[in-house]
Amino acid sequence: MYILLMGPPGAGKGTQAALLVEKFSIPHISTGDMFRAAVKEGTELGREAKKYMDAGELVPDEVTIGIVKEGLSKPNCKEGFILDGFPRTLEQAEALDKTLDDMGIKLTRVVNIFVPAEELVSRITGRRICKSCGATYHIAYNPSAQPGKCDKCNGELYQRNDDQEDTVKNRLDVYRAQTEPLIQYYKQQNVYSEIDGRQDIDKVFADVVTGIRGENS
Ligand code: ADP
Ligand code: AMP
Repeated sequence: MYILLMGPPGAGKGTQAALLVEKFSIPHISTGDMFRAAVKEGTELGREAKKYMDAGELVPDEVTIGIVKEGLSKPNCKEGFILDGFPRTLEQAEALDKTLDDMGIKLTRVVNIFVPAEELVSRITGRRICKSCGATYHIAYNPSAQPGKCDKCNGELYQRNDDQEDTVKNRLDVYRAQTEPLIQYYKQQNVYSEIDGRQDIDKVFADVVTGIRGENS
């Protein structure tokens, strides 16, 4: 099963990807997580990516395409994957098509989680992430049992640098200008499903699973 999760920043892609990993036991490839890991490790890639991430801009295509190709080349991706946060530009989408072609794979489904812009700012600014295991919470919509502590591993919760309100506006503009046009790209490939991301997390998940089966396209 080869799934691509689309949607604006804060739509719930990471939240749904974690549930899909549990249900289908396939790897989750998130370019945002890969860049954050590189920043944490202080690698050359991390130093380069951080400049763009902190400004709410996209990391250049050649860098991003390179790390995705490397991720997809791991043996466990042959069985399936959930791509989240990639592609974000037409050039990335075309590079992905070529890579999958070379692997002899076709996308099973592209599921777009729709959430209107006015809801995204509060979702993003209220997001908190576990420093240890990466689990995602929201201070109001999906709080941890104990404030500031992860339910799963008791790790410390933190707010991403780029989840401050001033950066969020630019990220949403960048999404609209560079990523939203990909909806048309995947509609033309007849693999596109759209679901309503404004519902409760469990209901969104039920719709994502239906969407993967192509039943609500
Ligand atoms: P993305 O990966 O698309 O940027 P996340 O999965 O990190 O989005 O979700 C963004 C924020 O919204 C998180 O704080 C998350 O807990 C919260 N969230 C996710 N899904 C929902 C939902 N269906 N309803 C309300 N809040 C949600
Ligand atoms: P995300 O975790 O998906 O919200 O991504 C966080 C940040 O990482 C983005 O704002 C970009 O700076 C960078 N990033 C993640 N994925 C991509 C991508 N596919 N192309 C370019 N930049 C990306």
